[in-house]
Amino acid sequence: MPADLSAIRREFPILETRIHGRPLVYLDNAATTQKPTAVLDASRHYYEAVNANIHRGTHHLARAATEAHEKARGIVARHLHAGDPAEVIFTSGTTDSINLVANILPLSPGDEILISALEHHSNIVPWQMACERSGAVLRVIPCDEQGILDPVEFGNLLSPKTRVLALTWLSNSFGTINPVAAMIAAAKQVGAFTVIDAAQAIPHLEIDVQSLGADFLAFSGHKVYAPTGIGVLWGRLELLRTLPPWRGGGEMIKEVRFEGTTYNEPPFRYEAGTPNIEGAIALAAALEFVNRIGITEIHTHEAALIRQAAAALSTIPGIRLYGPEDRAGALSFNLTGIHHYDLGTLIDQMGVAVRTGHHCCQPLMARFGITGTVRASFAVYNTAEEVDALATAVEKAAAMLG
Ligand code: PMP
Repeated sequence: MPADLSAIRREFPILETRIHGRPLVYLDNAATTQKPTAVLDASRHYYEAVNANIHRGTHHLARAATEAHEKARGIVARHLHAGDPAEVIFTSGTTDSINLVANILPLSPGDEILISALEHHSNIVPWQMACERSGAVLRVIPCDEQGILDPVEFGNLLSPKTRVLALTWLSNSFGTINPVAAMIAAAKQVGAFTVIDAAQAIPHLEIDVQSLGADFLAFSGHKVYAPTGIGVLWGRLELLRTLPPWRGGGEMIKEVRFEGTTYNEPPFRYEAGTPNIEGAIALAAALEFVNRIGITEIHTHEAALIRQAAAALSTIPGIRLYGPEDRAGALSFNLTGIHHYDLGTLIDQMGVAVRTGHHCCQPLMARFGITGTVRASFAVYNTAEEVDALATAVEKAAAMLG
């Protein structure tokens, strides 16, 4: 458990909120996390003291804003253990990052793009669109009843035709941690590009892009205590230097003539238009918050809460928990004969915020013959008492609906 959980909680003003007359129990962190004062202060300070457009100005504020923005890029690069800050492309979030990479990778008819049964729609649909454009074919690594990817099927699906492996590190629905490093190494053997969706990994796991061995990694700031509208695509510099731009406009050019345009170096080649300057600065503040506590401490604390939640919920008659035992971040469940939406609504009335539905993983839900689950998901500020509140609320709701 982090050294002083109540001190950490005090850093999140929203946790003081009361819902339906009860203290808020916020267990919807996989959808978005709450923001600590360090992040709120960074956003406010930027607009109060620094705000100007970056990169093109000679005046004092333009230089200060550029410096703050590029310092933020350096902090993100260090957090990811990236070799060079130029490998960090600021985007609006994971979805934007994956769309970017899906639009710049060279694909030909017959190429195969390998994803998994666990993917979020944002790591499915951009690849389906890439297949429509290029004639490439989508292949899917299946999972077992526990929501674990089938290693034998993965091996069978890999071939010299595999052009891309695009894989979630941590399932937002079931909390499955995929063995990404080993899977990336296998994909490299057949010469595939590797893309990791780290939207759920970023708040819970240590990320070292150099030891991971992937070519690209995407995440959203808002899943890791930063604001919405900012995210990252990390890419291997030697690849970024050779790949074409996607969106055109200001910032991404070297020289524009009506006869033709030359493009800027990465990362600017991939950052057309005025970026979310404040968002990048606030993201850096969020990562500094995480590092102040320690990602391992955060993960250990959350893992204990998830085990406690799984044990408490397992005693409720008719419950079905999804995902493996060593899940991280999120715990999904259903009660036999009760619609997840009805259960979630009743739990909310007891002050407990969970998410219900397909969690943007409709193919995964279909694989399990369901339309959705109730999902509790955890962050650094959650407590054992909140897990008790969840279990009590589910138990009461089960009795009322059953
Ligand atoms: N991938 C995963 C695993 C996610 O959990 C999410 C957000 N739920 C996304 C991608 C998409 O992130 P965003 O909506 O921030 O772009």
